[in-house]
Amino acid sequence: MGLLTGKQGLVVGVANKRSIAWGIAQAAAREGAALAYTYQGERLKENVAELAHSLDPNAPLYDCDVTKDDQLDAVFQGIQSSWGALDFLVHAVAFAKREELDGEFVNTSRDGYALAHDVSSYSLTALARRAMPLMAAGGSLVALTYYGAEKVIPRYNIMGVAKAALEASVRYLAYDLGAKNIRVNALSSGPVQTLAARGISGFTDMMKHVESRAPLRRNVTLEDVANAAVFLLSPLSSGITGETLHVDCGYNIVGM
Ligand code: NAP
Repeated sequence: MGLLTGKQGLVVGVANKRSIAWGIAQAAAREGAALAYTYQGERLKENVAELAHSLDPNAPLYDCDVTKDDQLDAVFQGIQSSWGALDFLVHAVAFAKREELDGEFVNTSRDGYALAHDVSSYSLTALARRAMPLMAAGGSLVALTYYGAEKVIPRYNIMGVAKAALEASVRYLAYDLGAKNIRVNALSSGPVQTLAARGISGFTDMMKHVESRAPLRRNVTLEDVANAAVFLLSPLSSGITGETLHVDCGYNIVGM
């Protein structure tokens, strides 16, 4: 308890109660953090507000599509005026067209490729650049990624390529921001049933496969992922940056 007491964090990517970002928000709040959230458009506002305000009635909320520079600017201007400083940021957003998450990667369209990278990868750099000035006392950024960045997961397709770019961005950002004592890490989660996951065809089979092959013989829970994220956000991980931490019941270590 209290690993994040006195810390202020921004959580990007809560859509509903199943969201990995929401699991992380709950764990961070349990550890004493004050949280601000973004939501994507009016459609999600009510849902995110209800969740956020169940933990803290004063939690600031910002409308933000991560592909829009003016909305990103407004988020950090808002944090600057309400809090004046930021200690951590959780990046849990990803998007690809549904048709690109089925069939073969070779058929990926030019605009589908660009869109997946804009939302799922470039957004981390866009957020990091704006968070940096608010992290004068140091900070920690955590981005959610998946094993499909490292190995071919059939039908994960363009998202695997975007996650590879995200993981490389984590390393480059860790290098740039390290001198300011801002750490940047990726958390590679095993499959979790969320809204985004439902867009990946054959997702249920992926979960069954992991359960039968992973050393722990089960899938990860939201709590497994959230607690590891708290570790990466907290001073317990003070010497770790540029890393991709697998929270996948050991699935990635198995060759056969
Ligand atoms: P989720 O609940 O659907 O969260 C994805 C979030 O991304 C949603 O809040 C979504 O908002 C947001 N988003 C999409 N496009 C956006 C944009 N242009 N601007 C702002 N937000 C946008 O699903 P999740 O599984 O928790 O995903 C969170 C992260 O974990 C993602 O990076 C995902 O790739 C990663 N991850 C998930 C799994 C898994 O198995 N679930 C495994 C490893 C890694 P909308 O609903 O409005 O689109």
